Amino acid sequence: MCYAIPGQIVKIKDRLAVVDYFGECRNVLRDFSDVKIGDFVYAQGGIIINKIPEGEAKEILEFWQDKFFELKKIDRRVSKIHQSKVSDNLLAILQKVNLNQKLADDDLLKLLNASAEQELKLVFETANNIRQKEHDNACCVHGIIEFSNYCQNNCWYCGIRKSQKIDRYRMSLDEIIKAAKSAVNKLGFKALVLQSGEDNWYTEDKLVRLVKEIKKLNVLIFLSIGERPKKTYKKLYEAGARANLLRFEISNKKIFQKLRPGADFDKRLELIEYTKKLGYILATGFLVGLPNETSDDIINNIKLTKSLKADMYSFGPLIPAAGTPLKNQKKVDKNLLLKIIAITRSLDRQAKILVTTALETLDKNAKRAGLLAGANSLMLNITPSNFRKKYIIYPGRPDMDKEINQSVKETINLLYSIGRAPTDVGI
Ligand code: SF4
Repeated sequence: MCYAIPGQIVKIKDRLAVVDYFGECRNVLRDFSDVKIGDFVYAQGGIIINKIPEGEAKEILEFWQDKFFELKKIDRRVSKIHQSKVSDNLLAILQKVNLNQKLADDDLLKLLNASAEQELKLVFETANNIRQKEHDNACCVHGIIEFSNYCQNNCWYCGIRKSQKIDRYRMSLDEIIKAAKSAVNKLGFKALVLQSGEDNWYTEDKLVRLVKEIKKLNVLIFLSIGERPKKTYKKLYEAGARANLLRFEISNKKIFQKLRPGADFDKRLELIEYTKKLGYILATGFLVGLPNETSDDIINNIKLTKSLKADMYSFGPLIPAAGTPLKNQKKVDKNLLLKIIAITRSLDRQAKILVTTALETLDKNAKRAGLLAGANSLMLNITPSNFRKKYIIYPGRPDMDKEINQSVKETINLLYSIGRAPTDVGI
């Protein structure tokens, strides 16, 4: 199964290459690939990750040709806006969204407060329509390997916080590489997220070795390893990692300091900005549903993510975990998360927006609902099953017992049903 279709390079200018996908041209970075005009390549996250032989590329493209256009047709149909009975005020705001006009904070709050069924329907449809116009039907599907549930921190909302009594595990470098190989060679993944708690057992040297080995598989490597020294992020970039997932969690400093004991908000932001400047594709965002969080905080979270120039937005609901200080916190309403996806799409048309697995925990149909509210990115848990069950960052995680093959199949079927191509066709 392909998660990225090959495209052909039709133009090269400095570090950029223009890649043609069935007549659709996209700009991609060619930072570490020796490629020329006419070559067939795979791109992920806007970066060329691999060159493939012409014969192989043509065979894959032949398989995809009809499907590619058929899916686009379905997507165009599914992302139409239908008439809904809503107030003139809401209609005026959505008209601004359609015309890509600046939205005032008050407009954003009104979108966040939409609650009637017809209002929600129109807000989601509008956002999904923008997603279709700006991104067409591409949807990235990255595989995530959770390689250690040790963490030196004690965030109040986290099920693997240091003081939590859970069965801990660390995958050896060989085990991680084996899982990566299986994801790439057997399942066809083109982008892998390496995620762990903040676990210094994995020294800079070990991580560099890991990235270099996985890089040989010609995949986009996403890091999600928490706060590490800047020089470590630099070395990991040099070793071949190209994307970094590091959320700021909440823009309200007071709440941040309380819920992340010992952490420094400004330092975290500085690190996020530093990795972006280094050239990493940046995925960042926040948690929704923290105690004392207000609607203004949520809007500020979205705006802060945008101001950090996030390439990908990642936000999920707090799912209260037993044994943590927030165990009694109220569950978040699924529609609140969907509205945040829609508002994000309205504010940042170009961004990738992730449907997080935490959102899926709230509702089994959330993946579909998130994609139809403006999201265009998914992550599938491909951690080997003996470890997967122990990464209980929050309870009730989906697909814990499911075979990876089965999760992949179901996701592809879901994407096809709404006309999305599980492929990343560049920026
Ligand atoms: S949220 Fe991240 S840094 Fe905080 S305790 Fe959990 S794994 Fe560690």
